[in-house]
Amino acid sequence: MAETLNPFEIVQKQLKIACDKLGVEESVYEVLKEPEKVLTVSIPIRMDDGSIKTFIGYRSQHSTVLGPAKGGVRFHPDVTMDEVKALSAWMTFKCAVVGIPYGGGKGGVRCNPKELSKSELERLSRGYFRAISPIIGPEKDIPAPDVYTNAQVMAWFMDEFSQLKGYNTPGVVTGKPIVLGGSLGRNEATARGATFTIREAAKKIGLDLTKATVAIQGFGNAGSVAARLLYELGCKIVAVNDSQGGVYNPDGLDPEAVNEYKKKNKTVKGFPGSKEISGAKLLELDVDILVPAALENVITSNNAANIKAKIVGEAANGPTTPEADEILYKKGVLVIPDILCNAGGVTVSYFEWVQNLMNFYWTEEEVNNRLEQVMVKAFNEVFYIHKQYNVNMREAAYMLAIKRITEALKLRGWI
Ligand code: GLU
Repeated sequence: MAETLNPFEIVQKQLKIACDKLGVEESVYEVLKEPEKVLTVSIPIRMDDGSIKTFIGYRSQHSTVLGPAKGGVRFHPDVTMDEVKALSAWMTFKCAVVGIPYGGGKGGVRCNPKELSKSELERLSRGYFRAISPIIGPEKDIPAPDVYTNAQVMAWFMDEFSQLKGYNTPGVVTGKPIVLGGSLGRNEATARGATFTIREAAKKIGLDLTKATVAIQGFGNAGSVAARLLYELGCKIVAVNDSQGGVYNPDGLDPEAVNEYKKKNKTVKGFPGSKEISGAKLLELDVDILVPAALENVITSNNAANIKAKIVGEAANGPTTPEADEILYKKGVLVIPDILCNAGGVTVSYFEWVQNLMNFYWTEEEVNNRLEQVMVKAFNEVFYIHKQYNVNMREAAYMLAIKRITEALKLRGWI
């Protein structure tokens, strides 16, 4: 049978495997296999040339059993309802893995933000948020940034919602600019969290990070900051890429210089002193650590056998298919699954929301210290299950999440 690349079918499969390994009642899978609520909205926008164009957006709330729905909003031309549903389910399991009091949600708008002017993007952002606002709120569902959205988009979301309410509601979204109630450290949080888990994984397999080589697929918010943080730990970053192309230098790249170059040229492609490398080749490089930091389905049954990294740190959501997972596990690759590896983003989102509700703001050091505690604890809990049950790290992370969710489902009387 051909491997499915439908992310929603993939998450259902991952859930089923973990439920079976854990030996929980059928009803757990039955309740979690579909999102609680999915809203589809059409967003007609006046374009700068005076014409009207309609965009389609979604917001999926997968589960609220552990708390309000939580998760980002993606603006991307390939967004589909099934993708958003899958991403919302991954958020449920992610929040449960790190033990923060949220369920899972996700939103998406099918659009190409790179082709929109700033004012078109603002109208689209406000239109989307207005359309989903009936199901959103600091106690209901709290959006955040995801692929191709950022602090500015969050500021428009928050402003639109506050205008509707008639008072300031910073707690309705996270990942806001600092001046509007954002948290220090949120921007770097996904990558910082991923870096903590990679550091812990390296300790487990006896890999010296000061001698380790790294390839990073995707140079956006997660990938570019992960490159910098791993470089600061002494790793040699030998390859990075983005949607336009990739660069390779066996002697190592300076992530700050690549960052500066990308700011000017909108891509890492052509970075001086480097060789060009394709996305496919980058994934198969002979490196110690591979960090997929872009989109889903980059490691599949087609290339998993060629992956040479000892550690795969999934800063992206859904980069590895279940078939690829099995191949990597048999090869002895330590995969730090997305729902653990990239949970630093939502963890600091939680800190941001707490600060908004308390109206009391923390120092960056406090944020980073708390993040480290959460990530190290979650990593070790997952690693323990991985060893105890003889399952791969993804199954272990799901098992930890499902254990917590099952307990809540039972206590609330939902199953
Ligand atoms: N979009 C990020 C994720 O996939 C962050 C979500 C959030 O902060 O709510 O985890």
